[in-house]
Formats: sequence, C-alpha cells, structure tokens
Amino acid sequence: MKLITDVAEMRSFSALSKGKGLRLILVPTMGALHAGHAALVREGREAGGKDAPLVVSIFVNPAQFGPGEDYLSYPRDLDKDVEAAVNAGADVVFAPLVDQMYPEGFKTHVTVEGLSERLCGASRPGHFKGVATVVSKLFNMVNPDIAVFGKKDYQQFVIIKRMCLDLNLGVEIIGADIVRSADGLALSSRNAQLNPLEREAALRIPRSLSCAVALVKKGERSAKAIIDMVRDIMATPVGGVALTIEYASLVSPETLEDVETIHGPGLLAVAVRVGKTRLIDNVFLNAC
Ligand code: AMP
Repeated sequence: MKLITDVAEMRSFSALSKGKGLRLILVPTMGALHAGHAALVREGREAGGKDAPLVVSIFVNPAQFGPGEDYLSYPRDLDKDVEAAVNAGADVVFAPLVDQMYPEGFKTHVTVEGLSERLCGASRPGHFKGVATVVSKLFNMVNPDIAVFGKKDYQQFVIIKRMCLDLNLGVEIIGADIVRSADGLALSSRNAQLNPLEREAALRIPRSLSCAVALVKKGERSAKAIIDMVRDIMATPVGGVALTIEYASLVSPETLEDVETIHGPGLLAVAVRVGKTRLIDNVFLNAC
C-alpha cells in the first residue's frame, strides 16, 4: 500500500499505471472510514478487476462546508484511515494537502446548475459547488477510469454523473448501495457525534423510510400521504430527543424534482438534525 500526499506524485503513479495498460479506480472520501466506504472499495474492485490500482482519496474539503458547519470538528485520523483502506483492499491512499488542492489565489469552480439547488442544496448553498469542484480536481489528479460514489449521498451521485457527462470527463461513475448498521441506521462518519439517546432517536429515520416502503407496497401513491406519515413518525420524540426535519421529499431519481404521485421509481430523501448532528438518508419507492 502506498500513501501519496503530493499531487505530482499522484500524477506520476497514475501515468505509470496507465502506461502499463492498467485501469485506475478512485473512491473519493473525506476519511473517518467505515464499512460504507469499504463497500465502495469492493464495488470498485469488482468493476475494475483485480489488477487495476484502486485509489482511496481522503480529503476533508473546506469548500463544501458552509459557515458554522462542522469542518473544523470533522473527524480526522489519517493513520487509522490508512489501516482501514488497506483492510478494505485499497492499493493507494491519496491524501492531498489543502494548500495544493486550493493554491493561493484559487478562483475556478464547477457548478452543476439546477440539481445542486434542490434537497440538501437548499439549506447548504454552495455545498455542491464545493463537491463538484473538488471531485473534478481529484479526477484531474488521479485520472481514474472508474469512480465509485455511495447512494447514501444520492444527490451527490446524480450531480457527479451529470458533471461527467457535461464536461466529457470520460470517467465511469458507479453508485454503491447504502450500508446500514444492524439496527438500520445508515453508516456515516457523523454517527460518532451522536450520544446514545440521540442515536436511539435517529433510528426513527430508517424506520420511517421502511414504513414508507410498506405503505407503497400496500398501494399508496400520493407523495403527500407518504411524506406526512414519514414526518409523523420522525416527529415523535424518543427519550426526550426530538428530530428536526430539514426536508422529507419524494423526487424523481433522475431530475430530483418533486413528484406528486409515484408512477414507477421514486426517491424518498430526508435530511434531519439530531441534536447538532445533521444526517441524511433515502430509499427507493417502487410503484410498479
Ligand atoms: P464521505 O466520506 O462521507 O464524504 O463519503 C465518501 C463516499 O462514501 C461518498 O460517496 C458517500 O456516499 C459514501 N458513503 C458514506 N456512507 C455510506 C454508506 N453508509 N453507504 C454507502 N456509501 C456511503
């Protein structure tokens, strides 16, 4: 396993691998690696084959955090992450330094219009501009053939696919399913910020999504009825901990636009605050 922190070294590694005719796989992360990230590595390995060098990038990207968000307190432990990346099957950990990523006088950004303003973009203005910019920079540095993103951040996945098409980046984008803990909570680096009572309360999130799936199975097609039920479940405080719903939306998985009635697949996406921690989750509802 190789740890690379220098952009020029990353480029030479990539050029060398390409020279040998190898494909390159990239799994971009912000570190604090968990089983969800490991699943992305497995997906990448499956798609790229066993000989393709697999790079896990670790970069806590300041440009995607808004004022007052948890950029400074975001968990960082490179040694632990390198170990986790090796165990997951990575060949390279690329952990670029902030001053190489954003050199003095930085002025260039990538914006994916429309898709970036909905859902999480509404309450986190500039977030997806930061994401699209850093991902396009990582693509330029690593030059991957394949990149793997988790569907937990479904909006991010759709935005990156759009960006790749629009900018002819030639990177195949793979989406990996959400990995959950045994009690249903979607794994997230931010779960570590929850105290035991908050964690218990947060279970309302996956429970409400499962109830929505069941409701659709029973024949419900109205987005309002489904969302009302999800909101009701999440509104009940658990152990004195209330969830604050930022949004609960039923959208088209392609355009992310609200749907009123589900015909075919729909994406039920939620963002919720539990104490100071913001969590997101989603589920596909299939009305076929
Ligand atoms: P992060 O480090 O949280 O920015 O996430 C890096 C990548 O891992 C993103 O593509 C996320 O969507 C993905 N990811 C994070 N948590 C999960 C999870 N529980 N299941 C699947 N993918 C995940």
